[in-house]
Amino acid sequence: MELPQNNSEWYARGLRFSCTQCGRCCSGPAGFVWFTPAEAQQIAEHLGIALNSFYEAYARKLRGRWSMQERDSVSGRDCVFLTRDRAGRAACSIYPVRPAQCRTWPFWPENLVTPEGWRRAAKSCPGMDRGRFYPIEQIRIIRDSNP
Ligand code: SF4
Repeated sequence: MELPQNNSEWYARGLRFSCTQCGRCCSGPAGFVWFTPAEAQQIAEHLGIALNSFYEAYARKLRGRWSMQERDSVSGRDCVFLTRDRAGRAACSIYPVRPAQCRTWPFWPENLVTPEGWRRAAKSCPGMDRGRFYPIEQIRIIRDSNP
C-alpha cells in the first residue's frame, strides 16, 4: 500500500470524485474564476477570436488579477461560459481549455488540508466522495498543479 508522503496526507488511500454536472461550482453567489495570461491565450484560440476580444467580452480585472465575467441566471451568478441543456445539466463551453482553477477542483490544497475541509466542500459539490477513484499519486499531481 502507498504510504502517506507526510502525516497531512489523510487521503493516502485515495478519494472519489465524479462531476454530476449540477453546475453549482460555476453558479450561485458571485465568485471568481481566475485564469492566467497563458490560459487566456488558449481560450481565445479555442474560441477563434483575438486575445483582446476575449478580454473585452469575457474577462474582468479584480484585485489585480483576471477572472471570468459572470451573468445573472435563475441560480444566481453564472460563469459566462456555463451553459445548461434542457434537462438542466450544466456544461462548460470551454471545457477542453478551462482554467486550472476549474480543472483541479475539488483537489484544491484548501480542501485537502483536513478531512473536515473536504467534507465541508462536499456539502456544496455532490460529485465528491462518489464515482471515479483518484489514487494518492494522481491527487498529488492535481493538487500541486493548482495555481
Ligand atoms: S458542484 Fe461538483 S458535481 Fe456540481 S458541477 Fe461542480 S464539480 Fe460537478
